[in-house]
Amino acid sequence: MVAVEYGVFEDGVCIEAGFHGEVDKVAAEAHMAALVAAEPDMADAYEVTEICPDHEEQPKNGCEECAEGEADDAEDDDEGRG
Ligand SMILES: [Zn+2]
Repeated sequence: MVAVEYGVFEDGVCIEAGFHGEVDKVAAEAHMAALVAAEPDMADAYEVTEICPDHEEQPKNGCEECAEGEADDAEDDDEGRG
């Protein structure tokens, strides 16, 4: 079983990745806290979130590459089968 990977994101862009599991998630949040402490005005831009298991440096929720793939598949899902 593969541990969930977390990343630190700034404005939706991954700036730090490679945090695996709950223990590393704490490390990721500590890293983000240090960034926020350095730039309090940017606090809203930073977040720690799960990384897409299929695509590096993409958030699991809102992965652009997954969204594109699913959009293509959904188009004619009912055709040519059955
Ligand atoms: Zn993805």
